[in-house]
Amino acid sequence: MAKFTMNPTLEQELAALIAPKIHEIGREVERQAKVFAPPTKQWITVADDKVRPTHVAAHGQEVPGNLRFKINSMRWDREHRGVGALTYMKEPRDESSRAVANLKNCRCHARSIPDGISRNIRTLPAIVTGSTLTVKVVAEGEWVIPAEIGTVYPGNLEAKGAYYMARATAAVAARR
Ligand SMILES: [Zn+2]
Repeated sequence: MAKFTMNPTLEQELAALIAPKIHEIGREVERQAKVFAPPTKQWITVADDKVRPTHVAAHGQEVPGNLRFKINSMRWDREHRGVGALTYMKEPRDESSRAVANLKNCRCHARSIPDGISRNIRTLPAIVTGSTLTVKVVAEGEWVIPAEIGTVYPGNLEAKGAYYMARATAAVAARR
C-alpha cells in the first residue's frame, strides 16, 4: 500500500497563493471605509484682536464631524450654566453646549475637511504566519475610536458613532 505524506509546506504555499486575494478584500474594505468616513472640521477664528481668549486657544482645533470641539469655558458659563472647565461645541455658537457667554458675538466658523479621516485609512500587506493569513485595514489618528463608536461628554452630551469601519466591513461582506 502506498503511503501518502502530506507536504508540510503545502498549507503555507496555499496561504501565500491566497494572500493577494485577501489583500484585495482588505483594499475593498479600505475604499468603502473612505466613502463612509465622516469629514473632520476645524475651528477657525477671524484672527483679529477682538477674538476672545477661549476661541484664540481653539483656533485650528480639528475634530471628526460627528464629535465636538473642546473649548475652554468662560467663567460666566461655569458659574451660571453649570459647564465644567471645558465647553463641548458641535460648531461655533452651538447652544446645545449650554454655554451662553462663550457663544455671544462669536464670529468663528468651522471649516470642513472632507478627507480629514479618510486620508488616514490604509490596508497593511497580508501577513502569512504558518497557515494563517492576516490582513489589516487600519485607521490612524487620535480620534479614530470616538469617531467610529461615538462618545459621551461631561454633561451627558452624546456624540453618535459614524461606524465607518464597521459599515464598510458589512458592506463588503454583503457584496461577496
Ligand atoms: Zn468665536
